[in-house]
Amino acid sequence: MTYASEVTSMIRVRFAPSPTGNLHIGGSRTALFNWLYAQAKNGKFILRIEDTDKLRSKQEFVNEILDSLKWLGFNWDEIYYQSQRFALYKQFAQKLLDEGKAYTEKLPDKEGEAIIFKVTPQKIKLNDLIRGNIEFEAETIKNQVLIKSDGTPTYNFACVVDDATMNITHIIRGEDHISNTPKQILLYEALGFKVPEFAHLPLIMGTEGGRLSKRTGATAISDFRKIGYLSEALVNYLLLLSWSPGENREVIDINEAIKLFDVKDVNKTAAAFDLDKLNWINNQYLKKEPLEKLNSLIIPLLIENNYIQKDNFDKNYVISIIKLFQARLSTINDFLDWANFFFLKDIEIEEKAKEKLLSRDLSKEFKLFIERLGMLEKFDIETIETSFREMVKELGLETKTLIHPIRAALTGKTIGPGLFEVIYYLGKERVKERLEKWINKE
Ligand code: GLU
Repeated sequence: MTYASEVTSMIRVRFAPSPTGNLHIGGSRTALFNWLYAQAKNGKFILRIEDTDKLRSKQEFVNEILDSLKWLGFNWDEIYYQSQRFALYKQFAQKLLDEGKAYTEKLPDKEGEAIIFKVTPQKIKLNDLIRGNIEFEAETIKNQVLIKSDGTPTYNFACVVDDATMNITHIIRGEDHISNTPKQILLYEALGFKVPEFAHLPLIMGTEGGRLSKRTGATAISDFRKIGYLSEALVNYLLLLSWSPGENREVIDINEAIKLFDVKDVNKTAAAFDLDKLNWINNQYLKKEPLEKLNSLIIPLLIENNYIQKDNFDKNYVISIIKLFQARLSTINDFLDWANFFFLKDIEIEEKAKEKLLSRDLSKEFKLFIERLGMLEKFDIETIETSFREMVKELGLETKTLIHPIRAALTGKTIGPGLFEVIYYLGKERVKERLEKWINKE
């Protein structure tokens, strides 16, 4: 058996999604490893839309898949749609008929004739680039339908005709397709095509084992985008799902990954989708993101959520608040939840904050603090802090007995940025208003 890669020097890989759903974590990792391999080997990355199922394929899914791939940065060199290639599949099925390798069959309740491939019993060997040698018994493979009686090709047949005519050298896809591979190898041989190399990527499970759930990885890439993940961070995370740059590194730039990646180094064992880790990686990227880029992502969200009014907001103020949160954000959307008290007039105090931090009567202390703030001539973070610390000392209290309750009354939350920054950016008036509101139990 000769492998296509031995005769063609150019590496050609493909990603072949069926547009019957959105692009998810599994599909995007397959796309990434194909794209990455093409970049690493100076090859070509082909996109093939497997839209043979007229009923289940939808244009909206094609659009979502293409947009998500572009957003992730996986640009393709060529694109094909299987629905435009039916004549080609027919032609190759006819060839097999002419050579006696296939036969037609008419089912009683169907209109047209199906074309069926005769499978001859034999051992089929596969040297998978990731999983090593695998042997399949063709006895277990039944004769295969190539073209259904309605004229549409089956997945295995269209896949082989396409991979061969598109000169695909390496087929990198999910392990769930491994049982299709022997059937496909038989077809390559029957059609006289060279068999490409295969690399089957391990499954992606949820962290607790089992299939991916909605909360774990079953989220569409377009949703990750909406929630506020950065594409670079998501790609970095996808990379780690069964590949590692070595030396326990987790944050890696894509250009460096291109230099280090080889499909042979992909792990055999199942990968686990871990949302906490994705959040951690996203935070690593958000921390380093230029403020300008962050602003361009956050400001539209603030407008959309009526936190600020388009063309009528203090940009410098918004930027200062973004800076205040930048190091902590796991996603861009976190900003909406965490920083809302800087933008909304009426804040809601979380139950947890009430129970944990505001159950004691601190009205005397709150009043005193309002007074002290009122007296400050200079209002900057340092002065606010000095005045607060002096007051706490005079009252003979521990700082934390007041810091957290005041912050909870100002922000409505149990956690947040430092109290003095919060006070500074809220301004004297709003601080006074919110503390009084709490004193008066409004
Ligand atoms: N359309 C198939 C899928 O989405 C492609 C399988 C393959 O890569 O051969 O699973």
